[in-house]
Amino acid sequence: MRVLLLGGTAEARDLAQALVDEGVDVLSSLAGRVARPRLPVGRVRVGGFGGVDGLVAALADLGIDVVVDATHPFARGMTANAAAACAATGVPLLRLERSGWDPDPSWHRAADHAAAAELAAGLGRRPFLTVGRQELARFVPHLGGLAVLARVVDPPQDPLPAAWTLVTSRGPYTLDGDRDLMAGHGADVLVTKDSGGSYTWPKMQAAAQLGIPVVVVERPAPEPGALVVNAVAPALEWVLARR
Ligand code: NAP
Repeated sequence: MRVLLLGGTAEARDLAQALVDEGVDVLSSLAGRVARPRLPVGRVRVGGFGGVDGLVAALADLGIDVVVDATHPFARGMTANAAAACAATGVPLLRLERSGWDPDPSWHRAADHAAAAELAAGLGRRPFLTVGRQELARFVPHLGGLAVLARVVDPPQDPLPAAWTLVTSRGPYTLDGDRDLMAGHGADVLVTKDSGGSYTWPKMQAAAQLGIPVVVVERPAPEPGALVVNAVAPALEWVLARR
């Protein structure tokens, strides 16, 4: 049995490790977005498939028997393509998606990034943006003139507003480090996606300690009819049951 594991997350790396340990033939797939990705164990391919049609062709070319989509909760394009390609081919598909954070009543919840930008503009003058490089442009209309601190893994291709400061780093982060970063900038509002997990949680603790409001971009709706688990153990069990 050969598994295609759509990755780019810590959960995907953990599942790749567990599958390799079980002797399962697993091929991890990365989008190729970041310059120096953390690589999972086992075989890895990098780059897009070319939409649904490309993925359908790849499933056949690569001899894939099952697919686990363990991409990031906000990587909805890949998730939609995986659902469509597996429905078209009959290849079994499991979605492994870490749970969102337990909501805090103090959070300002936004349905999307544009709404988050508008909310943040009403809450502070020195926002700390931790929404990912690809989303930064959506914040420029509302926050372009403010002293934004934007944290990304790799710098964006397009230039940012002159008033913005970019900091490049990758998690996992620490409470002390995030509190120092936010206090050093004088951040007065934090903007984040509801990524879930522990890697990026320290900024939420730091914001609470500093008394800074938090804007949380809610997750997009799940694929209708998807079979979803929230942890590596049940995903491993699902794959092994198909051996
Ligand atoms: P996306 O918008 O859902 O995907 C856009 C396109 O990128 C897909 O249609 C696909 O291209 C390609 N792609 C995405 N994930 C891929 C994978 N694992 N293997 C091969 N091709 C992939 O994705 P995104 O939000 O740009 O995220 C890209 C990757 O970064 C994902 O793998 C995700 O797990 C990881 N990541 C994303 C975030 C986030 O906040 N979005 C955060 C951390 C990590 P084709 O149509 O050509 O196949």
